[in-house]
Amino acid sequence: MNIVLLGAPGSGKGTQAERLAERYRLIHVSTGDLFRRHLGEGTALGRLAESYMSQGTLVPDAVTVAMIRERLEDAPEDGGLLLDGFPRTTAQATALADLLAERSQAVDAAILLDVSEERLVERLLGRGRSDDVRETIQTRLAAYREQTLPVIGYYEALGALWRVDGEGAIEAIAQRLAAILDGLATPA
Ligand code: AMP
Repeated sequence: MNIVLLGAPGSGKGTQAERLAERYRLIHVSTGDLFRRHLGEGTALGRLAESYMSQGTLVPDAVTVAMIRERLEDAPEDGGLLLDGFPRTTAQATALADLLAERSQAVDAAILLDVSEERLVERLLGRGRSDDVRETIQTRLAAYREQTLPVIGYYEALGALWRVDGEGAIEAIAQRLAAILDGLATPA
């Protein structure tokens, strides 16, 4: 079972992805975390990514896809994936489809965590991460609107999109997500 978790910055993707990965024994793959790890280790990729991350823009697709390709090579083929923060562009979405096709797999569901923009800004400002300053937040939200919203349409056209209300208590949102995954796991 390969799941893509979609949502704007501040939608709670990371928090929910961690819980879902644990509950359903999925391999949690977060491109934001991978970039931050490279940054912490001072790799060339980390230094390259930093220039984009600090501004709130997306790291180029070729770089991001190469990193995911490498990450998936390390992941056992029989382990389901929970992708968090990837894909963020339609080019990434088609690259993911190709990478999964090499394993005779596909994205089984893309779940969108729906949160109002007002609430997103509130949450991002409260988080205090170095790229969570007001100006960068606006750039990240604009990147989401311009580059990531089309990814929602991509999965919708495939009939693989689920929308979940991402507002409310963490536990309540986790229950909504679990209801979808439980439905997918049930044999037809
Ligand atoms: P996140 O932790 O998912 O909010 O990601 C933090 C930053 O990492 C983003 O603002 C981007 O600069 C970069 N990033 C993470 N995932 C991607 C992706 N799939 N494509 C391009 N850039 C990404």
